[in-house]
Amino acid sequence: MSRSWSGGSTRAWRRIRARVLARDGHRCQVQLDGCTLTATEVHHTRGRAITGDDERYLVASCKPCNLKIGDPSKRDPSPTPHSSW
Ligand SMILES: [Zn+2]
Repeated sequence: MSRSWSGGSTRAWRRIRARVLARDGHRCQVQLDGCTLTATEVHHTRGRAITGDDERYLVASCKPCNLKIGDPSKRDPSPTPHSSW
């Protein structure tokens, strides 16, 4: 089992997340139904498996939106294996 990403919060990730939240003014950029507008999380718009933690593909997101939208790479039906993660 890999332990580094299992909880999604390494020191580096926390720093990136704080920067993205500050960039977007702690305001949710996703705004789906049930949005609280107060971003506390960061959403990977293309999926972390595809873009990694590139800030250009990260947006501030509230928890309900981030849960709802999930990881787009998981919905992608293409059978690309990424077992190294
Ligand atoms: Zn939201």
